Amino acid sequence: MRQTNLFIPTLKESPADAEIASHKLMVRSGLIRKGASGIYSWLPLGLIVVKKIEAIVREQLAAIGAQEVLMPVIQPAELWEETGRWEAMGPELMRIKDRHDRAFCLGPTHEEVVTNIFRGEIKSYKDLPINLYQIQTKFRDERRPRFGVVRAREFIMKDGYSFHCDQTSFDQTYENMFTCYSSILAEMDLDYRAVEADSGNIGGQKSHEFHVLSEIGEDTIVCTSEGDYAANLEAAIAQKSEPTDSTLRELTEIATPGVRSIEELCAFLNIPASSTLKTLIVRVSNRGEETTGKNSFLAVALRGDHDLNLTKLAKQEEVSGEIALASEDEVRKILGAPIGFIGPINCGLRVLIDHEAFVSNNLVCGGNEADIHMEGFNCKRDLSSTDYRVTDIRNVSPGDKAVTGEGELKFFRGIEVGHIFQLGTKYSEAMRATVLDESGTEKPAIMGCYGMGVTRLVAAAIEQHHDTNGIIWPEKIAPFFVHLLPLNLHKSEFVREIAEHCYDELISRGVDVLFDDREERPGVKFAEADLIGVPHRLVVGEKGLQDNLIEYSERSLKETVKLSPKDAIERIVSRHSSLSTGV
Ligand code: ATP
Ligand code: MG
Repeated sequence: MRQTNLFIPTLKESPADAEIASHKLMVRSGLIRKGASGIYSWLPLGLIVVKKIEAIVREQLAAIGAQEVLMPVIQPAELWEETGRWEAMGPELMRIKDRHDRAFCLGPTHEEVVTNIFRGEIKSYKDLPINLYQIQTKFRDERRPRFGVVRAREFIMKDGYSFHCDQTSFDQTYENMFTCYSSILAEMDLDYRAVEADSGNIGGQKSHEFHVLSEIGEDTIVCTSEGDYAANLEAAIAQKSEPTDSTLRELTEIATPGVRSIEELCAFLNIPASSTLKTLIVRVSNRGEETTGKNSFLAVALRGDHDLNLTKLAKQEEVSGEIALASEDEVRKILGAPIGFIGPINCGLRVLIDHEAFVSNNLVCGGNEADIHMEGFNCKRDLSSTDYRVTDIRNVSPGDKAVTGEGELKFFRGIEVGHIFQLGTKYSEAMRATVLDESGTEKPAIMGCYGMGVTRLVAAAIEQHHDTNGIIWPEKIAPFFVHLLPLNLHKSEFVREIAEHCYDELISRGVDVLFDDREERPGVKFAEADLIGVPHRLVVGEKGLQDNLIEYSERSLKETVKLSPKDAIERIVSRHSSLSTGV
């Protein structure tokens, strides 16, 4: 492609709303332009990258027998009402009305639509399994669109859905999808982790997220240094500590005037946070009752150095409805003590205590009275066994022992680029999508769903592959393989002749070339080539040509090699063919 024929509106300055490198670079290198908050146009260079990612995705999915479909963006409200999600999706669902005042939404995902197709067509186990996917624009009115296309309101997703008659068949497809996602991300040269994830309200079923490691990632993922345990923080568990056998000290009241936070308590008593107990009062039910009744509240106790994991808490049998921290007023009403001094002893509420706090001896906890704490708290001794239950409700910490027994837990930041999920029969039951099994029994189909954020992947790839000058594209998703930069093309016939020859020759041998045939100064060409980030570069200049030499370099490396045009072409062609064959 000749650069004079390609619309690449580069910018020297980053847009004011861009906080992260990929967002800045995508705008500066002319890949995208903003239309409104979280809504972007893909310009030619950006769209080439999107198409390359889509091609990798299509190739890998075809290899496991998934079939491509294209479902409508616009979906009738009735389908969403069948599953209860018209209500449950809340303001994230973009809703529209047609001229007859009928309600529709712009698809944020397609479980309802695909299940509707399924139930109309497939009746027998003989037609299963079936694995359908599409690559399509999705709409989600995100609360906080940010980071350019990372969290957009309109974005391209590959979403896939599989239907099965039995669990064994589902398990096989899930495994294939897991391998397929891994291959896609490896092809894109991304450093990623597949992590166990929480499957939300479906509970206890398989779910894995695929994260591209990056400091800007919104998710915390937990991996072991040795072994292969990897989970996101919501789902991560650690090996449980054994009870300590230190001597139990007497439970003693201590005066702690104005000492409210764990930090203040630690400083005041000169003890580590792990020697303290923090107690939170949470409202765990919204069953419609006036929520001052004590039954609506729980005391949740953890070691002072640990954080509450809301996902784990939400799964406890004591919890129904939404979880909210009790207000200062509510705490005073229930315990007669201000926040900062609450503890589990005689608190009159059901206590959920985290396992690690339970096995720690002699903790300092709140005394349920202003300016008072208790020293020497030992749960088993100091609480009546009918008042508390021991469970895992904390976030794991870096350095915790892995539950696999191998290695310690380490924290990383990740950008979630894919999510594979066992849906079970949630949608097929709600929408009565049943099949007859071998014995003629009618059963709801078992479903899986598989999402991958195509446009988010572009940003994630740039986050991992850039330097201060610009993007450094991984070869397989680069918009072009080679950037051909002739210097002073318009002044030198010789330069033009050789450059045109290189261009024709490379193209005829199947290499995609971006030919900078613009009348620009060399400095501008170099700066823009760095910004755009094409992985290989050939520079043709009058001076080198006196010795029949042109310059070859890789965007990721500093060195430049001088080669004859013929050798340079051979070198690039051979690099290019190793790319296609994966050697
Ligand atoms: P997140 O937790 O980031 O909101 P999600 O759990 O809502 O993601 P899924 O519903 O599983 O995401 O969607 C599948 C994939 O689509 C995600 O893994 C992600 O790569 C992509 N995706 C989701 N929301 C967005 C968005 N707002 N902008 C761009 N890509 C997105
Ligand atoms: Mg989301």
